[in-house]
Amino acid sequence: MNLPPYIRAHYPILYLVTPEESRAESSILEAAKALKRDLQIWSTTEGFVNEKGKSIAQTEDAIDALLQVHGKETPDKTIFVMRDLHLYFNSPKVLRILRDIARDFKQLSKTLIIISPVRKVPAELERDLTVLEFELPKREEIEAIFNTLYTNNKAKLGTISDDEKERIIQAAMGLTTVEAENAFSKAMVESTTDESKPLISKLVLREKAAAVRKTGILEYFEATQTASDIGGLENLKTWLTTRNQAFTHKARQFGLPLPRGILLAGLPGCGKSLSAKAASNILGVPLIRFDIGKVFGGLVGESERNMRTAIQTAEAVGSCVLWIDEMEKAFAGMGGSGSSDSGTSQRIFGNFITWMQEKTTPCFVIATVNRIDSLPPELLRKGRFDEIFFVGLPDAVNREEIINIHVRRFRPKAEKLIKASVMKECVKASEGFSGAELEEAVISGMYTAFHHDARELLGEDILKAIEITNPLSKARAADLKMMSDWAECNAVNANKITAKADKGDKSSSGRQLEI
Ligand code: ADP
Repeated sequence: MNLPPYIRAHYPILYLVTPEESRAESSILEAAKALKRDLQIWSTTEGFVNEKGKSIAQTEDAIDALLQVHGKETPDKTIFVMRDLHLYFNSPKVLRILRDIARDFKQLSKTLIIISPVRKVPAELERDLTVLEFELPKREEIEAIFNTLYTNNKAKLGTISDDEKERIIQAAMGLTTVEAENAFSKAMVESTTDESKPLISKLVLREKAAAVRKTGILEYFEATQTASDIGGLENLKTWLTTRNQAFTHKARQFGLPLPRGILLAGLPGCGKSLSAKAASNILGVPLIRFDIGKVFGGLVGESERNMRTAIQTAEAVGSCVLWIDEMEKAFAGMGGSGSSDSGTSQRIFGNFITWMQEKTTPCFVIATVNRIDSLPPELLRKGRFDEIFFVGLPDAVNREEIINIHVRRFRPKAEKLIKASVMKECVKASEGFSGAELEEAVISGMYTAFHHDARELLGEDILKAIEITNPLSKARAADLKMMSDWAECNAVNANKITAKADKGDKSSSGRQLEI
Protein backbone atom coordinates (compact mmCIF):
# COMPACT_ATOMS: atom_id res chain seq x y z
CA MET A 1 0.00 0.00 0.00
CA ASN A 2 1.44 3.29 -1.11
CA LEU A 3 -0.01 6.16 0.95
CA PRO A 4 1.50 9.34 -0.60
CA PRO A 5 -0.63 9.31 -3.79
CA TYR A 6 -3.85 9.28 -1.71
CA ILE A 7 -2.62 12.12 0.47
CA ARG A 8 -1.39 14.16 -2.47
CA ALA A 9 -4.69 13.63 -4.29
CA HIS A 10 -6.61 15.13 -1.30
CA TYR A 11 -8.45 11.98 -0.27
CA PRO A 12 -10.06 13.43 2.88
CA ILE A 13 -10.50 10.29 5.01
CA LEU A 14 -8.56 7.03 4.71
CA TYR A 15 -9.60 3.98 6.70
CA LEU A 16 -6.62 1.70 7.21
CA VAL A 17 -7.47 -1.89 8.14
CA THR A 18 -4.63 -3.57 9.99
CA PRO A 19 -3.96 -5.43 13.21
CA GLU A 20 -0.48 -3.83 13.17
CA GLU A 21 -1.01 -0.36 14.52
CA SER A 22 2.59 0.61 15.15
CA ARG A 23 3.80 -0.68 11.80
CA ALA A 24 1.03 1.25 10.05
CA GLU A 25 1.95 4.40 11.98
CA SER A 26 5.61 4.08 10.98
CA SER A 27 4.51 3.89 7.39
CA ILE A 28 2.27 6.97 7.81
CA LEU A 29 5.18 8.84 9.43
CA GLU A 30 7.38 7.98 6.46
CA ALA A 31 4.71 9.31 4.09
CA ALA A 32 4.34 12.48 6.21
CA LYS A 33 8.09 13.11 6.05
CA ALA A 34 8.20 12.52 2.30
CA LEU A 35 5.31 14.96 1.74
CA LYS A 36 6.48 17.47 4.37
CA ARG A 37 3.28 17.16 6.42
CA ASP A 38 2.84 17.43 10.17
CA LEU A 39 1.48 14.46 12.04
CA GLN A 40 -0.95 14.37 14.95
CA ILE A 41 -1.97 11.05 16.47
CA TRP A 42 -5.09 10.78 18.61
CA SER A 43 -6.21 8.09 21.02
CA THR A 44 -8.70 8.27 23.84
CA THR A 45 -5.96 7.44 26.34
CA GLU A 46 -3.36 10.02 25.26
CA GLY A 47 -5.32 12.72 23.43
CA PHE A 48 -3.31 14.28 20.58
CA VAL A 49 0.45 13.64 20.40
CA ASN A 50 3.01 14.46 17.74
CA GLU A 51 5.21 11.90 15.94
CA LYS A 52 7.65 11.91 18.86
CA GLY A 53 4.87 11.14 21.35
CA LYS A 54 4.87 14.70 22.77
CA SER A 55 1.45 15.82 23.94
CA ILE A 56 -0.29 18.46 21.80
CA ALA A 57 -3.73 18.48 23.46
CA GLN A 58 -5.26 16.24 26.10
CA THR A 59 -8.57 15.82 24.35
CA GLU A 60 -9.82 12.42 25.43
CA ASP A 61 -13.40 12.65 24.17
CA ALA A 62 -13.81 11.37 20.62
CA ILE A 63 -16.36 14.04 19.62
CA ASP A 64 -14.20 16.86 21.00
CA ALA A 65 -11.21 15.38 19.20
CA LEU A 66 -13.08 15.20 15.90
CA LEU A 67 -14.28 18.79 16.30
CA GLN A 68 -10.67 19.78 16.92
CA VAL A 69 -9.52 17.96 13.77
CA HIS A 70 -12.24 19.67 11.78
CA GLY A 71 -11.61 23.09 13.38
CA LYS A 72 -10.25 25.92 11.28
CA GLU A 73 -7.45 26.59 13.79
CA THR A 74 -5.59 23.32 13.05
CA PRO A 75 -2.68 23.93 10.68
CA ASP A 76 -2.98 23.02 7.03
CA LYS A 77 -0.63 20.33 5.65
CA THR A 78 -1.39 18.00 8.55
CA ILE A 79 -2.15 14.29 8.71
CA PHE A 80 -4.39 13.31 11.61
CA VAL A 81 -4.28 9.70 12.71
CA MET A 82 -7.14 8.49 14.91
CA ARG A 83 -6.89 5.14 16.65
CA ASP A 84 -9.99 3.00 17.21
CA LEU A 85 -12.42 5.63 15.96
CA HIS A 86 -14.61 2.82 14.61
CA LEU A 87 -15.73 2.19 18.19
CA TYR A 88 -17.61 5.51 18.08
CA PHE A 89 -19.43 4.98 14.79
CA ASN A 90 -22.74 4.39 16.57
CA SER A 91 -22.88 8.09 17.51
CA PRO A 92 -24.88 10.23 15.04
CA LYS A 93 -22.71 13.22 15.95
CA VAL A 94 -19.50 11.34 15.11
CA LEU A 95 -20.92 10.39 11.71
CA ARG A 96 -22.00 13.99 11.05
CA ILE A 97 -18.59 15.46 11.88
CA LEU A 98 -16.88 12.83 9.74
CA ARG A 99 -19.10 13.75 6.80
CA ASP A 100 -18.26 17.42 7.34
CA ILE A 101 -14.56 16.55 7.41
CA ALA A 102 -14.93 14.52 4.21
CA ARG A 103 -16.52 17.50 2.47
CA ASP A 104 -14.12 20.19 3.74
CA PHE A 105 -10.76 18.37 3.67
CA LYS A 106 -11.09 17.89 -0.09
CA GLN A 107 -10.31 21.59 -0.45
CA LEU A 108 -7.49 21.51 2.11
CA SER A 109 -4.15 19.73 2.51
CA LYS A 110 -5.40 17.87 5.56
CA THR A 111 -5.97 14.13 5.73
CA LEU A 112 -7.66 12.06 8.39
CA ILE A 113 -6.47 8.46 8.69
CA ILE A 114 -8.48 6.08 10.83
CA ILE A 115 -6.54 2.99 11.91
CA SER A 116 -8.60 -0.01 12.89
CA PRO A 117 -8.01 -3.74 13.24
CA VAL A 118 -11.43 -4.41 11.71
CA ARG A 119 -13.21 -3.19 8.64
CA LYS A 120 -16.36 -1.63 10.00
CA VAL A 121 -17.68 1.10 7.78
CA PRO A 122 -21.22 2.32 8.41
CA ALA A 123 -23.35 2.61 5.27
CA GLU A 124 -23.65 6.40 5.87
CA LEU A 125 -19.90 6.81 5.42
CA GLU A 126 -19.26 4.41 2.57
CA ARG A 127 -18.83 7.18 0.00
CA ASP A 128 -16.91 9.50 2.29
CA LEU A 129 -13.98 7.37 3.20
CA THR A 130 -11.54 5.15 1.34
CA VAL A 131 -10.74 1.78 2.82
CA LEU A 132 -7.16 0.57 2.42
CA GLU A 133 -5.76 -2.77 3.49
CA PHE A 134 -2.34 -2.57 5.05
CA GLU A 135 -0.12 -5.31 3.62
CA LEU A 136 1.60 -7.95 5.66
CA PRO A 137 5.33 -7.41 6.27
CA LYS A 138 7.77 -7.97 3.43
CA ARG A 139 10.66 -10.39 3.49
CA GLU A 140 13.21 -7.72 4.51
CA GLU A 141 11.11 -6.72 7.53
CA ILE A 142 10.76 -10.34 8.67
CA GLU A 143 14.49 -10.87 8.15
CA ALA A 144 15.32 -7.79 10.24
CA ILE A 145 13.17 -9.06 13.14
CA PHE A 146 14.86 -12.44 12.96
CA ASN A 147 18.36 -10.94 12.81
CA THR A 148 17.77 -8.83 15.93
CA LEU A 149 16.47 -11.77 17.94
CA TYR A 150 19.19 -14.07 16.63
CA THR A 151 21.96 -11.61 17.52
CA ASN A 152 20.59 -11.34 21.07
CA ASN A 153 20.39 -15.11 21.50
CA LYS A 154 23.35 -16.29 19.44
CA ALA A 155 25.26 -17.57 22.47
CA LYS A 156 22.46 -19.99 23.34
CA LEU A 157 21.45 -20.93 19.79
CA GLY A 158 24.88 -21.49 18.25
CA THR A 159 25.44 -20.98 14.54
CA ILE A 160 22.44 -21.28 12.26
CA SER A 161 23.27 -22.21 8.67
CA ASP A 162 22.26 -19.92 5.81
CA ASP A 163 19.89 -22.60 4.50
CA GLU A 164 18.12 -22.95 7.84
CA LYS A 165 17.98 -19.17 8.19
CA GLU A 166 16.28 -18.98 4.80
CA ARG A 167 13.78 -21.66 5.82
CA ILE A 168 13.03 -19.82 9.08
CA ILE A 169 12.34 -16.56 7.25
CA GLN A 170 10.18 -18.30 4.65
CA ALA A 171 8.33 -20.04 7.46
CA ALA A 172 7.42 -16.70 9.02
CA MET A 173 6.16 -15.07 5.82
CA GLY A 174 2.44 -14.39 6.10
CA LEU A 175 2.65 -13.40 9.77
CA THR A 176 2.28 -9.90 11.12
CA THR A 177 5.42 -8.38 12.69
CA VAL A 178 4.12 -9.09 16.19
CA GLU A 179 3.21 -12.67 15.26
CA ALA A 180 6.62 -13.21 13.63
CA GLU A 181 8.42 -11.83 16.65
CA ASN A 182 6.41 -14.06 18.98
CA ALA A 183 6.90 -17.10 16.75
CA PHE A 184 10.68 -16.55 16.56
CA SER A 185 11.02 -16.01 20.32
CA LYS A 186 8.92 -19.06 21.17
CA ALA A 187 10.76 -21.25 18.64
CA MET A 188 14.16 -20.10 19.90
CA VAL A 189 13.24 -20.96 23.50
CA GLU A 190 11.79 -24.33 22.49
CA SER A 191 14.73 -25.28 20.30
CA THR A 192 17.16 -24.71 23.17
CA THR A 193 15.08 -26.30 25.94
CA ASP A 194 13.52 -29.27 24.13
CA GLU A 195 15.66 -32.43 24.40
CA SER A 196 15.01 -33.38 20.77
CA LYS A 197 16.41 -30.03 19.54
CA PRO A 198 13.73 -29.40 16.91
CA LEU A 199 14.63 -27.15 13.99
CA ILE A 200 13.58 -23.53 14.49
CA SER A 201 12.07 -23.43 10.98
CA LYS A 202 9.76 -26.36 11.88
CA LEU A 203 8.64 -24.64 15.09
CA VAL A 204 7.98 -21.34 13.30
CA LEU A 205 5.97 -23.20 10.68
CA ARG A 206 3.84 -24.70 13.44
CA GLU A 207 3.16 -21.22 14.82
CA LYS A 208 2.22 -20.03 11.37
CA ALA A 209 -0.20 -22.91 10.97
CA ALA A 210 -2.12 -21.47 13.91
CA ALA A 211 -2.03 -17.94 12.46
CA VAL A 212 -3.20 -19.06 9.01
CA ARG A 213 -6.05 -21.01 10.61
CA LYS A 214 -7.27 -17.74 12.14
CA THR A 215 -8.43 -16.59 8.71
CA GLY A 216 -11.06 -19.36 8.91
CA ILE A 217 -10.66 -19.90 5.16
CA LEU A 218 -7.11 -21.17 4.87
CA GLU A 219 -5.78 -24.22 6.60
CA TYR A 220 -2.26 -25.54 6.89
CA PHE A 221 -1.81 -29.16 6.03
CA GLU A 222 1.11 -31.22 7.22
CA ALA A 223 1.07 -33.63 4.30
CA THR A 224 3.14 -36.78 4.59
CA GLN A 225 2.22 -38.25 1.21
CA THR A 226 4.87 -38.55 -1.48
CA ALA A 227 4.95 -39.69 -5.10
CA SER A 228 5.31 -43.32 -3.99
CA ASP A 229 1.90 -43.18 -2.28
CA ILE A 230 0.22 -42.55 -5.63
CA GLY A 231 -0.52 -45.53 -7.84
CA GLY A 232 -0.39 -44.63 -11.53
CA LEU A 233 -0.81 -40.97 -12.54
CA GLU A 234 2.69 -41.24 -14.00
CA ASN A 235 2.32 -38.24 -16.29
CA LEU A 236 1.26 -36.01 -13.43
CA LYS A 237 4.04 -37.30 -11.18
CA THR A 238 6.61 -36.73 -13.93
CA TRP A 239 5.30 -33.20 -14.53
CA LEU A 240 5.62 -32.37 -10.83
CA THR A 241 8.97 -34.09 -10.37
CA THR A 242 10.43 -32.15 -13.29
CA ARG A 243 9.54 -29.01 -11.32
CA ASN A 244 10.86 -30.14 -7.94
CA GLN A 245 13.48 -27.36 -8.02
CA ALA A 246 11.09 -24.76 -9.43
CA PHE A 247 10.92 -22.68 -6.26
CA THR A 248 14.66 -22.49 -5.61
CA HIS A 249 16.96 -19.54 -5.96
CA LYS A 250 18.85 -21.55 -8.58
CA ALA A 251 15.75 -21.75 -10.78
CA ARG A 252 15.29 -17.96 -10.60
CA GLN A 253 18.94 -17.43 -11.54
CA PHE A 254 18.45 -19.76 -14.50
CA GLY A 255 15.65 -17.45 -15.60
CA LEU A 256 12.81 -19.94 -15.13
CA PRO A 257 9.43 -18.27 -14.62
CA LEU A 258 7.52 -19.37 -11.53
CA PRO A 259 5.01 -22.12 -12.23
CA ARG A 260 1.45 -20.85 -11.86
CA GLY A 261 -0.61 -23.91 -11.06
CA ILE A 262 -2.51 -26.89 -12.40
CA LEU A 263 -6.11 -27.97 -12.61
CA LEU A 264 -6.95 -31.59 -11.87
CA ALA A 265 -10.30 -32.78 -13.24
CA GLY A 266 -11.83 -36.21 -12.83
CA LEU A 267 -14.36 -38.40 -11.07
CA PRO A 268 -14.24 -38.39 -7.25
CA GLY A 269 -11.83 -40.81 -5.61
CA CYS A 270 -9.25 -40.97 -8.40
CA GLY A 271 -6.45 -39.33 -6.42
CA LYS A 272 -6.75 -35.59 -7.09
CA SER A 273 -6.54 -34.55 -3.44
CA LEU A 274 -3.91 -37.19 -2.82
CA SER A 275 -1.84 -35.67 -5.64
CA ALA A 276 -2.20 -32.15 -4.21
CA LYS A 277 -0.87 -33.40 -0.87
CA ALA A 278 2.01 -35.30 -2.49
CA ALA A 279 2.77 -32.27 -4.70
CA SER A 280 3.68 -30.22 -1.65
CA ASN A 281 6.36 -32.77 -0.75
CA ILE A 282 7.54 -33.23 -4.33
CA LEU A 283 7.90 -29.46 -4.76
CA GLY A 284 9.27 -29.06 -1.23
CA VAL A 285 6.87 -26.30 -0.17
CA PRO A 286 4.12 -26.19 2.47
CA LEU A 287 0.51 -27.05 1.64
CA ILE A 288 -2.34 -24.66 2.34
CA ARG A 289 -5.91 -25.67 1.75
CA PHE A 290 -8.18 -22.90 0.56
CA ASP A 291 -11.83 -23.56 1.27
CA ILE A 292 -13.21 -21.24 -1.37
CA GLY A 293 -16.80 -22.00 -0.33
CA LYS A 294 -16.12 -20.28 3.01
CA VAL A 295 -15.23 -17.04 1.21
CA PHE A 296 -18.89 -16.29 0.67
CA GLY A 297 -20.23 -14.24 3.55
CA GLY A 298 -23.62 -12.74 4.23
CA LEU A 299 -22.76 -9.07 4.58
CA VAL A 300 -22.24 -6.71 1.67
CA GLY A 301 -18.62 -6.72 0.60
CA GLU A 302 -17.71 -9.48 3.05
CA SER A 303 -17.02 -12.08 0.37
CA GLU A 304 -14.67 -9.77 -1.52
CA ARG A 305 -12.82 -8.97 1.68
CA ASN A 306 -12.53 -12.66 2.61
CA MET A 307 -11.12 -13.40 -0.83
CA ARG A 308 -8.58 -10.58 -0.50
CA THR A 309 -7.51 -11.69 2.97
CA ALA A 310 -7.12 -15.29 1.84
CA ILE A 311 -5.06 -14.38 -1.22
CA GLN A 312 -2.98 -11.86 0.70
CA THR A 313 -2.20 -14.36 3.44
CA ALA A 314 -1.40 -17.14 0.96
CA GLU A 315 0.87 -14.83 -1.03
CA ALA A 316 2.65 -13.60 2.04
CA VAL A 317 3.36 -17.20 3.04
CA GLY A 318 5.84 -17.31 0.17
CA SER A 319 6.44 -20.55 -1.70
CA CYS A 320 3.48 -22.85 -1.13
CA VAL A 321 0.95 -25.11 -2.78
CA LEU A 322 -2.44 -23.46 -2.51
CA TRP A 323 -4.90 -26.32 -2.81
CA ILE A 324 -8.44 -25.40 -3.84
CA ASP A 325 -10.50 -28.54 -3.40
CA GLU A 326 -13.73 -29.10 -5.36
CA MET A 327 -13.56 -25.68 -6.90
CA GLU A 328 -16.70 -26.24 -8.97
CA LYS A 329 -18.77 -26.01 -5.79
CA ALA A 330 -17.97 -22.31 -5.46
CA PHE A 331 -18.31 -21.28 -9.08
CA ALA A 332 -20.69 -23.80 -10.61
CA GLY A 333 -23.68 -22.42 -12.44
CA MET A 334 -22.43 -18.92 -11.83
CA GLY A 335 -24.19 -16.03 -13.42
CA GLY A 336 -27.09 -18.06 -14.72
CA SER A 337 -30.54 -16.51 -14.53
CA GLY A 338 -31.19 -18.58 -11.40
CA SER A 339 -28.23 -17.16 -9.51
CA SER A 340 -29.43 -15.24 -6.51
CA ASP A 341 -26.32 -13.70 -5.01
CA SER A 342 -26.43 -10.48 -7.04
CA GLY A 343 -23.27 -11.31 -8.92
CA THR A 344 -21.07 -11.95 -5.88
CA SER A 345 -19.80 -15.30 -7.20
CA GLN A 346 -19.14 -13.65 -10.52
CA ARG A 347 -17.07 -10.90 -8.93
CA ILE A 348 -15.17 -13.32 -6.70
CA PHE A 349 -14.50 -15.50 -9.72
CA GLY A 350 -13.29 -12.47 -11.66
CA ASN A 351 -10.93 -11.55 -8.80
CA PHE A 352 -9.59 -15.08 -8.74
CA ILE A 353 -9.02 -15.26 -12.50
CA THR A 354 -7.22 -11.90 -12.54
CA TRP A 355 -5.05 -12.96 -9.65
CA MET A 356 -4.17 -16.27 -11.37
CA GLN A 357 -3.23 -14.41 -14.52
CA GLU A 358 -1.18 -11.67 -12.92
CA LYS A 359 0.35 -13.23 -9.84
CA THR A 360 4.09 -12.99 -9.51
CA THR A 361 4.43 -14.77 -6.17
CA PRO A 362 5.57 -18.38 -5.72
CA CYS A 363 2.12 -19.53 -4.71
CA PHE A 364 1.41 -22.64 -6.78
CA VAL A 365 -2.31 -23.31 -7.20
CA ILE A 366 -3.68 -26.84 -7.45
CA ALA A 367 -7.39 -26.69 -8.14
CA THR A 368 -9.39 -29.91 -8.19
CA VAL A 369 -12.78 -30.36 -9.82
CA ASN A 370 -15.12 -33.36 -9.94
CA ARG A 371 -17.14 -31.98 -12.86
CA ILE A 372 -16.29 -29.75 -15.73
CA ASP A 373 -19.73 -29.19 -17.27
CA SER A 374 -20.68 -26.45 -14.83
CA LEU A 375 -17.33 -24.67 -14.78
CA PRO A 376 -17.06 -21.20 -16.33
CA PRO A 377 -15.19 -21.60 -19.63
CA GLU A 378 -12.84 -18.68 -18.80
CA LEU A 379 -11.29 -20.84 -16.11
CA LEU A 380 -10.17 -23.42 -18.64
CA ARG A 381 -8.72 -20.92 -21.09
CA LYS A 382 -4.98 -20.98 -21.81
CA GLY A 383 -2.82 -18.90 -19.54
CA ARG A 384 -4.74 -19.51 -16.32
CA PHE A 385 -3.12 -22.80 -15.40
CA ASP A 386 0.19 -24.21 -16.62
CA GLU A 387 -1.57 -27.46 -17.41
CA ILE A 388 -4.96 -29.12 -17.09
CA PHE A 389 -4.83 -32.80 -16.19
CA PHE A 390 -7.58 -35.36 -16.56
CA VAL A 391 -7.34 -37.74 -13.63
CA GLY A 392 -9.11 -40.80 -14.95
CA LEU A 393 -9.68 -44.29 -13.66
CA PRO A 394 -6.63 -46.50 -13.15
CA ASP A 395 -5.91 -49.15 -15.79
CA ALA A 396 -5.04 -52.77 -14.94
CA VAL A 397 -1.37 -52.08 -14.19
CA ASN A 398 -2.21 -49.12 -11.99
CA ARG A 399 -4.99 -50.97 -10.16
CA GLU A 400 -2.50 -53.61 -9.08
CA GLU A 401 -0.12 -50.88 -7.96
CA ILE A 402 -2.84 -49.12 -5.95
CA ILE A 403 -3.97 -52.33 -4.24
CA ASN A 404 -0.35 -53.04 -3.31
CA ILE A 405 0.18 -49.50 -1.99
CA HIS A 406 -2.73 -49.86 0.42
CA VAL A 407 -1.93 -53.43 1.48
CA ARG A 408 1.63 -52.25 2.20
CA ARG A 409 0.24 -49.30 4.13
CA PHE A 410 -2.07 -51.27 6.42
CA ARG A 411 -0.70 -54.87 6.47
CA PRO A 412 2.90 -54.76 5.18
CA LYS A 413 3.41 -58.48 5.85
CA ALA A 414 0.41 -59.48 3.72
CA GLU A 415 1.82 -58.06 0.49
CA LYS A 416 4.15 -60.97 -0.25
CA LEU A 417 1.53 -63.54 0.73
CA ILE A 418 -1.08 -62.52 -1.85
CA LYS A 419 -1.03 -65.11 -4.63
CA ALA A 420 -0.28 -63.74 -8.09
CA SER A 421 -3.30 -65.56 -9.56
CA VAL A 422 -5.65 -63.99 -6.98
CA MET A 423 -4.16 -60.55 -7.56
CA LYS A 424 -4.80 -61.06 -11.27
CA GLU A 425 -8.46 -61.80 -10.50
CA CYS A 426 -8.68 -58.72 -8.26
CA VAL A 427 -7.31 -56.55 -11.06
CA LYS A 428 -9.74 -58.03 -13.59
CA ALA A 429 -12.78 -57.78 -11.32
CA SER A 430 -12.03 -54.18 -10.40
CA GLU A 431 -12.25 -52.66 -13.87
CA GLY A 432 -13.90 -49.25 -13.53
CA PHE A 433 -12.84 -48.86 -9.87
CA SER A 434 -11.32 -45.63 -8.59
CA GLY A 435 -8.29 -45.54 -6.28
CA ALA A 436 -10.57 -44.74 -3.35
CA GLU A 437 -12.76 -47.77 -4.13
CA LEU A 438 -9.69 -50.02 -4.31
CA GLU A 439 -8.54 -48.65 -0.95
CA GLU A 440 -12.02 -49.38 0.45
CA ALA A 441 -11.83 -52.97 -0.86
CA VAL A 442 -8.51 -53.49 0.95
CA ILE A 443 -9.94 -52.08 4.20
CA SER A 444 -13.09 -54.18 3.81
CA GLY A 445 -10.91 -57.27 3.25
CA MET A 446 -9.03 -56.44 6.44
CA TYR A 447 -12.31 -56.44 8.37
CA THR A 448 -13.00 -59.96 7.10
CA ALA A 449 -9.52 -61.10 8.15
CA PHE A 450 -9.90 -59.44 11.55
CA HIS A 451 -13.28 -61.05 12.02
CA HIS A 452 -11.64 -64.46 11.50
CA ASP A 453 -9.51 -64.38 14.61
CA ALA A 454 -7.40 -61.53 13.30
CA ARG A 455 -5.67 -63.77 10.76
CA GLU A 456 -3.49 -62.31 8.00
CA LEU A 457 -5.21 -60.49 5.15
CA LEU A 458 -5.58 -62.65 2.02
CA GLY A 459 -5.99 -61.69 -1.61
CA GLU A 460 -9.32 -63.58 -1.52
CA ASP A 461 -10.66 -61.15 1.12
CA ILE A 462 -9.94 -58.22 -1.17
CA LEU A 463 -11.44 -60.03 -4.16
CA LYS A 464 -14.67 -60.69 -2.28
CA ALA A 465 -14.96 -57.02 -1.34
CA ILE A 466 -14.36 -56.01 -4.96
CA GLU A 467 -17.05 -58.40 -6.20
CA ILE A 468 -19.74 -56.86 -4.04
CA THR A 469 -18.85 -53.24 -4.87
CA ASN A 470 -20.68 -51.29 -7.53
CA PRO A 471 -18.19 -48.65 -8.65
CA LEU A 472 -19.18 -45.02 -9.02
CA SER A 473 -18.01 -45.06 -12.64
CA LYS A 474 -20.96 -47.36 -13.45
CA ALA A 475 -23.50 -45.18 -11.67
CA ARG A 476 -22.04 -42.08 -13.26
CA ALA A 477 -21.17 -43.59 -16.64
CA ALA A 478 -22.61 -40.61 -18.53
CA ASP A 479 -20.56 -38.12 -16.50
CA LEU A 480 -17.44 -40.17 -17.05
CA LYS A 481 -18.02 -40.33 -20.79
CA MET A 482 -18.62 -36.61 -20.98
CA MET A 483 -15.50 -35.84 -19.02
CA SER A 484 -13.29 -38.18 -20.99
CA ASP A 485 -14.65 -36.80 -24.29
CA TRP A 486 -13.83 -33.31 -23.04
CA ALA A 487 -10.37 -34.44 -21.87
CA GLU A 488 -9.60 -35.81 -25.33
CA CYS A 489 -9.01 -32.29 -26.66
CA ASN A 490 -8.60 -30.18 -23.55
CA ALA A 491 -6.40 -31.96 -21.05
CA VAL A 492 -3.29 -34.00 -20.51
CA ASN A 493 -3.97 -37.48 -19.21
CA ALA A 494 -2.55 -37.80 -15.69
CA ASN A 495 -2.17 -41.53 -16.36
CA LYS A 496 0.38 -42.93 -18.73
CA ILE A 497 -1.30 -45.25 -21.19
CA THR A 498 0.28 -48.65 -20.91
CA ALA A 499 0.17 -51.42 -23.48
CA LYS A 500 -1.85 -53.48 -21.03
CA ALA A 501 -4.65 -50.92 -20.74
CA ASP A 502 -8.13 -52.40 -20.57
CA LYS A 503 -10.18 -52.53 -23.71
CA GLY A 504 -12.48 -49.55 -23.99
CA ASP A 505 -10.83 -48.11 -20.92
CA LYS A 506 -12.21 -44.64 -20.32
CA SER A 507 -9.03 -43.62 -18.55
CA SER A 508 -7.17 -43.43 -21.84
CA SER A 509 -8.56 -39.99 -22.75
CA GLY A 510 -6.45 -36.89 -22.98
CA ARG A 511 -3.09 -36.09 -24.51
CA GLN A 512 0.02 -37.82 -23.34
CA LEU A 513 2.66 -35.76 -21.66
CA GLU A 514 5.61 -34.78 -23.80
CA ILE A 515 8.79 -34.02 -21.92
P1 ADP B 1 -10.29 -37.17 -5.27
O1 ADP B 1 -9.64 -35.96 -4.70
O2 ADP B 1 -9.93 -37.40 -6.70
O3 ADP B 1 -11.77 -37.22 -5.05
P2 ADP B 1 -8.79 -38.54 -3.27
O4 ADP B 1 -7.40 -38.16 -3.60
O5 ADP B 1 -9.43 -37.83 -2.13
O6 ADP B 1 -9.71 -38.45 -4.53
O7 ADP B 1 -8.82 -40.11 -2.97
C1 ADP B 1 -9.29 -40.66 -1.74
C2 ADP B 1 -8.34 -41.71 -1.28
O8 ADP B 1 -8.32 -42.80 -2.20
C3 ADP B 1 -6.90 -41.24 -1.20
O9 ADP B 1 -6.62 -40.63 0.03
C4 ADP B 1 -6.13 -42.54 -1.37
O10 ADP B 1 -6.03 -43.22 -0.15
C5 ADP B 1 -7.02 -43.34 -2.32
N1 ADP B 1 -6.56 -43.15 -3.71
C6 ADP B 1 -7.20 -42.53 -4.71
N2 ADP B 1 -6.48 -42.55 -5.85
C7 ADP B 1 -5.34 -43.19 -5.56
C8 ADP B 1 -4.16 -43.54 -6.30
N3 ADP B 1 -4.04 -43.20 -7.59
N4 ADP B 1 -3.17 -44.19 -5.65
C9 ADP B 1 -3.29 -44.54 -4.36
N5 ADP B 1 -4.36 -44.26 -3.62
C10 ADP B 1 -5.38 -43.60 -4.19
